Amino acid sequence: MIKLRNIKKQFKHNQVLKGIDLDVQKGDVLVIVGPSGSGKTTLLRCMNYLEKPDEGTIEIDGFTVEGSHASKGDILALRRKTAMVFQHYNLFKNKTVIENVMEGLIVAKKMPKKKAKDISRALLEKVGLAEKVDEYPSQLSGGQQQRVGIARALALNPSVILFDEPTSALDPEMVGEVLSIIKEIAEEGITMVVVTHEIDFAREVANRVIFMDEGHIVEQGTPQEVLIHPKHERTKRFLRRLT
Ligand code: ATP
Repeated sequence: MIKLRNIKKQFKHNQVLKGIDLDVQKGDVLVIVGPSGSGKTTLLRCMNYLEKPDEGTIEIDGFTVEGSHASKGDILALRRKTAMVFQHYNLFKNKTVIENVMEGLIVAKKMPKKKAKDISRALLEKVGLAEKVDEYPSQLSGGQQQRVGIARALALNPSVILFDEPTSALDPEMVGEVLSIIKEIAEEGITMVVVTHEIDFAREVANRVIFMDEGHIVEQGTPQEVLIHPKHERTKRFLRRLT
């Protein structure tokens, strides 16, 4: 489903990704963990070209882009295969909840308004926001806003959903409600890549985990292998620090 080869990215003199190879299979729930600054978010953002890689190739669902010289059409095609859930939700503040979800369907998928509204309403029900469809993001809690972000991603029916630290901006009491929605979606077999600091979530929901440090994938495998019986000293040190 996703095939990354030799992805490199540098910001000024900071080599953030040092040649990442990664394969994600259809239906995988891949969780990326690692210390702050290890390159997790940058890697995720390279997958849909929100960051332009300096080198390497990105293949998603049969569509391949050469990292360093993708055309506008390539980038658009790649983006259409993905949807992203952002740390800070990135909702349109001047649109209602349902309009936020409908937007992608009308603009990107050119869907008639009525159909877009029906799909959006059903997805908002699914994430527990049936009562909130006509409110504005500012009237919602952080957890509710993030659930709108998730409904918006689902609406696009992408090949893969990319979650960029979806709970790290939330008050602790709202983290659980968002993680449980993500878990529900994962159980439906949607391919997802999740960058998170929530190790318990990774243990429970992921079928694959990668541990990154200093721009490399240090270790990858099942949650059992990486998070319970890690082989590498760096992974062990990272996990010890969290307990
Ligand atoms: P965290 O867990 O803290 O979010 P991360 O592992 O996701 O960290 P990244 O956000 O990918 O790490 O950042 C990796 C490095 O790249 C950091 O040193 C960061 O300062 C740098 N970086 C990220 N984005 C940019 C940017 N747009 N411009 C310059 N430097 C950047």
